[in-house]
Amino acid sequence: MTRANDHRIIGPKLNLYQQNDDIGPGLPLFPWQGETVLYELKSFLRDLLSKQGYKFVRTPHISKIDLFKKSGHWANYREDMFLVKAREDKMAIKPMSCPFHTTIFKQENHSYRNMPRRYAEFATVYRNEASGALTGLSRVRMITQDDAHIFCNMKSLDNEISKLIELVRIVYKALGFKNTTVELSTRPKKYVGDIKTWNQAEEILEKALKKNKMKYSINKEDGAFYGPKIDFHFKDANKKSWQLSTIQLDFNLCSRLGATYTNKDDKEEYPIILHRALLGSFERMFGILMEHYNGAFPVWLAPTQIKIISFNDEMITYTKKIIKNLETKGFRVEGDFRSETVQRKVRDAEKQKVPYIIVIGQKEKQKGTLAVRPRGSKPKFGIKMTDFVKQIRHEIKEKTIK
Ligand code: ZN
Repeated sequence: MTRANDHRIIGPKLNLYQQNDDIGPGLPLFPWQGETVLYELKSFLRDLLSKQGYKFVRTPHISKIDLFKKSGHWANYREDMFLVKAREDKMAIKPMSCPFHTTIFKQENHSYRNMPRRYAEFATVYRNEASGALTGLSRVRMITQDDAHIFCNMKSLDNEISKLIELVRIVYKALGFKNTTVELSTRPKKYVGDIKTWNQAEEILEKALKKNKMKYSINKEDGAFYGPKIDFHFKDANKKSWQLSTIQLDFNLCSRLGATYTNKDDKEEYPIILHRALLGSFERMFGILMEHYNGAFPVWLAPTQIKIISFNDEMITYTKKIIKNLETKGFRVEGDFRSETVQRKVRDAEKQKVPYIIVIGQKEKQKGTLAVRPRGSKPKFGIKMTDFVKQIRHEIKEKTIK
């Protein structure tokens, strides 16, 4: 039995995503309703990251397999990669963007003066997961990561980790998640780099977690072979715990791809890379948010923010005027002009979990006011357009969760 708020029920019901056998498992389609939510999430993050000194880059979906051989992914990740044949080369669809961002860094000239560099990309990557493991939006073959790579050195590590913790806090507060806990995974038995670097990095990470008052536990010897990592866990509104943000240190990739910067002594040095994702993947996060809000998205994320219902056919022209007015103010509005009863139209809009339903009748037209029904509440009559606009703008700006 599936729970009523399982995203695999909510998603198709609200047309937030679809699946189709001809397209294949783990390759979701996003109709406009779903794409609207994803777009809002992306805009929110993009604005936030730009203010935190990130630069957005864009890299191809496929590359020669040589790149992945050099980066080490071919040896470790080959099974999960989709291969394609170009006219002259064997190519692969990227399972991750790290080698691309590192190549960009490598081709630029960087000195300690302009470090650290923070490169972000909302890149869709493809992983050849076993079809039996694919489910809803939690396990998919098409993964759009909110990926970023921070090229830094040991000296700036502390500050970068603190900045990342701050970012994680801002993002998850806006989404309404609580009870953050952290796991720090340390040096495994098989590792690259020298012990001194590992110890120093682990010490810096632990200090940063303490300084930022994060509750954490240590996963001994559970880091990747190329560096320690920090995972953030959050509880959603159903008290379900999710591992979402992650910061992975990497002492390896820059040396594999020959990406350096000039240090203070005028020598070429390999930077440390912080691979980091705040949401993880947009697809998985979308599924989690459907369950977290039970499909009733806050106004800033809701695909349709306002549903406008005309009382009868005489009201259609006036209702269209109201819709146009609200659309030009930047709201996502939809009209319901079906020849159903008003009660039926209201009920349908409620089922779609639209944050605001407005019914336009003769009285509203005469008085020039609105009858507004906020989601889950009784209707309020005689609302002035300017007051309604002010309120909804405020809710969008503040990302209010009700
Ligand atoms: Zn990466």
